Amino acid sequence: MAVKKDYYEILGVDRNATQEEIKKAYRKLARKYHPDICKKPECEEKFKEINEAYQVLSDPEKRKLYDKYGHAAFEGTAAQSPEGANIPFGGEGFQFEQLNEFMRQFMGGGGLFEKLFEEAVFGSRRKRSRGWRQAARGEDIYHTVEISLEDAFKGTVLTIPITRKVKCPVCGGRGTTNERSCPQCGGSGRVRYQMGPFLVEETCPACHGAGVIAQPCPECEGKGFVYKTEEIKVRIPPGVDNGTKLKVDGKGHEGAFGGPSGDLYIITKVKPHPVFERRGDNLYVDVNITYPEAVLGSEIKVPTIEGEEITVKVPEGTKEGDTVRVEGKGMPRLRGSGRGDLVVRFHIDVPSFGLLAKLTGKEKKVKELLQELQQYLPKPERVRKRA
Ligand SMILES: [Zn+2]
Ligand SMILES: [Zn+2]
Repeated sequence: MAVKKDYYEILGVDRNATQEEIKKAYRKLARKYHPDICKKPECEEKFKEINEAYQVLSDPEKRKLYDKYGHAAFEGTAAQSPEGANIPFGGEGFQFEQLNEFMRQFMGGGGLFEKLFEEAVFGSRRKRSRGWRQAARGEDIYHTVEISLEDAFKGTVLTIPITRKVKCPVCGGRGTTNERSCPQCGGSGRVRYQMGPFLVEETCPACHGAGVIAQPCPECEGKGFVYKTEEIKVRIPPGVDNGTKLKVDGKGHEGAFGGPSGDLYIITKVKPHPVFERRGDNLYVDVNITYPEAVLGSEIKVPTIEGEEITVKVPEGTKEGDTVRVEGKGMPRLRGSGRGDLVVRFHIDVPSFGLLAKLTGKEKKVKELLQELQQYLPKPERVRKRA
């Protein structure tokens, strides 16, 4: 084996260089000699050297050993990683292909070089965290309620039982109990091992990065949440219709690991009404009038949704299906102000002669009256034209 060059010399830094200076020098050199950039065979060798030097000098423990014993400190020995795990260090001959593949995986192609380089070499340690369990927003809950047209008209307050995911009271949402520091990684969540000149850092396989070993919570079976039914008061504003979506902030499922709760959406369904038909903000009511009322015109009482009765004029000569509009007696407008209209639709009630005779007991008289009336009526066109 040739005499090894001094690590400080390789990186071109002073023996008293700070970590920041070492890092800076390394970055500069690695960019210059990386095999994706420099294709010359001597660059390969140089790149290898730089990495080896950096791995030692960037690690305070190893730097201390190196300062004390030089290269001898690492020859054929096992070094203790700062995290406490035993990692083979120095070992067998380093394969360049291995390194190259490793760098390639991390660094990808040309343009992204800078960014990926930062990430691959310096980012992993910065990003290392115990929180492999990410905070997540809770899901939204959709719940349909059926209400009467009267309630849709007035608005109402409903108390609705909603079953939501909430943080498990036993484990506080962690999903685990009996937590203790992971013996494999010493609680850091990461393990390091040597790969050629690289000290590779990985998520700890024993604790999957949590840094702790624990038992699944018996209450929630490790899920971190339990289902709980809560009575939630929801104000239904006047004017809601089929499919109106009302949002109740934060009353969806609770978030995981500190994430915000989802929202609750109440979707209204309005039951059909025995008297009123709703079309948008308008209400329709069907009323029966007699033949003389239709011919002569009249005034009749019509119910409204608020439960009162209003007087509506039947115009002279009203035909079957004619309508009269009463403004402002429909449904309240959910958006905007005021109310829709009440549309009164007339139907001419035609009793059979038999029924008339039975009701009046004056069969002969009724028949004469109708026959007489028939003489005065204009003959209608028999066939109605379409439109
Ligand atoms: Zn639990
Ligand atoms: Zn671990």
